[in-house]
Formats: sequence, structure tokens, C-alpha cells
Amino acid sequence: MDFADRVERVEPSATLAISDLASQLEAEGADVVDLSVGEPDFPTPENIVEAAKDAMDAGHTGYAPSNGVPELKDAIAEKLHDDGLDQYSSENVIVTPGAKMALYETVQALIEDGEEVVLLDPAWVSYEAMVKMAGGSLTRVDTSEYDFALEPALDDLAEAVSDETELMVVNSPGNPTGAVYSDAALEGVRDLAVEHDFTVISDEIYKEITYGVEQTSLGTLEGMEDRTVTINGFSKAYSMTGWRLGYVAAPEELIGQAGKLHSHSVSSAVNFVQHAGIEALENTDEAVEEMVEAFAERREFLVDLLAERNVDVAEPDGAFYMMVPVDDNDQAWCEGAIEDAHVATVPGSAFGTPGYARISYANSKERIEEAVERLDAEGYL
Ligand code: PLP
Repeated sequence: MDFADRVERVEPSATLAISDLASQLEAEGADVVDLSVGEPDFPTPENIVEAAKDAMDAGHTGYAPSNGVPELKDAIAEKLHDDGLDQYSSENVIVTPGAKMALYETVQALIEDGEEVVLLDPAWVSYEAMVKMAGGSLTRVDTSEYDFALEPALDDLAEAVSDETELMVVNSPGNPTGAVYSDAALEGVRDLAVEHDFTVISDEIYKEITYGVEQTSLGTLEGMEDRTVTINGFSKAYSMTGWRLGYVAAPEELIGQAGKLHSHSVSSAVNFVQHAGIEALENTDEAVEEMVEAFAERREFLVDLLAERNVDVAEPDGAFYMMVPVDDNDQAWCEGAIEDAHVATVPGSAFGTPGYARISYANSKERIEEAVERLDAEGYL
């Protein structure tokens, strides 16, 4: 078979080698502590599960309107208003099967051959693949020397962007760093976006998961109202990864174009899942708070365990990940850690930043402690 360039230029996920090794070891009977996963370890809150069952019983099992069930789009618009994003009404929303599809549709709608997209490294793995599939070219700005903060990296960003820049992706709180960008950093992005007239995707999938700080939504900044594409979803805040529910909010012209891709590919997000999404947005604040509190405790716990072993990390203010400095050859470190200590992590090079391993602390304190003790005993810390 002769394959299209758009798929041949994308590599399979660099995390695959690690999860394959983990599965192989588990099949052989090993007890693997998996700190490589990007999902909360809590069940979906019961009221959301009940709402899905009720929606099925009520017959919401047929096709849904392509851009989303109207009540859910209204609830999303209300949530966005609560975040200060007054420019969006339900007409500015497409409900998608996961935030990933929202990002994919946005990149497909905006980027064509040779157009420049700027990423801040370390960056979530799929941005690169999405840009490559669209034929875009990547410019990457490394934030690792600034402990993953954006404000001190603004000069580097200013050098990297130009009138050729079409799109930039900002992900805060970020995967894999957990960094929360300051208002001053976002204002710096805004100034550059306005000066060079580019669009910015603000991936806010971890916005609800922060520790003692709040993440300003980029689209609330003056000058960004019509050049921000806001992405969010239900996977992380509501522990709904498998339900596949997310959304894009954007100026109406973009919704029109992305909506064509959406209707000709997925048709819509699952009907009864969208009904459960309404319940998530309207009646789940307490459960979200409890999960965030648990993440906060584990974060402190992990930072302390590492500090006791003289491993300093840039303490994250959001999400549930931490970048731990390891050997230059981070791929070898991660493979060794899983083979010798049976602890699965993700190499920083998968995110464009070698020399680190990403640890997800969406796991119990006991398992986190077990992992750190094993890594220490095997000489990995
Ligand atoms: N954006 C970031 C930064 C993520 O980490 C993820 C999931 O890992 C997504 C988007 C996609 O989330 P989903 O498609 O599950 O809504």
C-alpha cells in the first residue's frame, strides 16, 4: 500500500515503548507502579454516571445535533462566562469527542502546508503530530531553563515569532510540567499575537486543577477576544477520560469551518454522554474540589519524598504531573526504571525536552511512596 505523507510524517507515540514494556512485565507477573498515565485515578462522580443512565433511559441514543446538544452548549457558554470569556455564546461552541478532537479540528481548519505553528516546550505530545498531519511547520521555544515558567522566556518567544507565524499553542496549567502561566506571561503572548497578527489556541483542559493559584483564561485579555481558540473538556476535571467529551469555543467563522470537518467525520459527540456533561457542569463542584484536594496532597507528598533524596523539582501549580530531572538519556533512564524498579514514567524527550522524566501523581500516596523507594533503591534518584 502507498500511504499518504500526512500519516507517514508522524511518528508513533514515544510513550508506546514504555507502556509496551509495562504490559509485558505485568503479563510476567511483575507489580508495576504506573506513574505514566495522564488520567485521574478516581471513578467518575456518581451523579454524572446516573445522568448518563437516565439519558439512555429517556431515549437520548440517536444522533445528536452535529455541533452539540443545545442544553450542553448553553451550559458550556455559561461556564465560559463564569471564566470571564463573555465573547462566547452557544453559537461559538462545538462539542467534540474529547478535547483532542477539538484541537485536531482547530489545527486542520487553520493550518495548511508550510504554515508556522509555535509550541512552548515541553509540549504535550499530540500538538506536534497534529501540526505535522496538517502540513504545518513547527517552531519550538524551550522553557526548561526557566523552570518551565513562560514569563522569563518571553524574549526567546519574541525572537521566535514573526509575521509568518500563523498559530501558537498555549497550554496552562500544562502537561507535562504542571506549570501555571502568570498573567504577565499571558499579556506577553497577547502583545506578540496582536503585533504579528496570529491566532492562539488556549488549551485549558487542566484549568480546574490548580493549587492555590487561579489560571486566567487567555481569551479574557483585551485584544485576544477574537484571536483565541479556547479548548476544554471533561476528562481531567471530572475524571471522564473514557467518555470522550470536550469542546472548542471560537469566533463563529472558525466554528463554521471546523464544523464541516466535525460533521463529515465524527458527526457528533455521543448523545447521552453530552447529557451527562450537563450534569457535570451544573452539579459536580464538590466532587471536583475533593479530587483537587487529593491531588494537592499527593503533590506535596511527592515533592517532599524527592527533596529527602536531594532531587529538586520545579514545583507545579496545576495539573497532576511533575518533570523530574534525570540523565541526559531520558529514554534509557525510563526504560531502566521500568525494567529494574518496575516504575513506569514518560521520557521528557517525548515532549521535546530531554533530560527529564514526567511523573504523574494521579495515584495513591502508598503507590507514589513505593515508586520513589524503588527508584531510590535501584539507584535512579
Ligand atoms: N490537552 C492536553 C494538554 C492533554 O493532556 C490531554 C489529554 O491528555 C488532552 C488535551 C486531551 O484530552 P481529552 O481528549 O481526553 O479530552
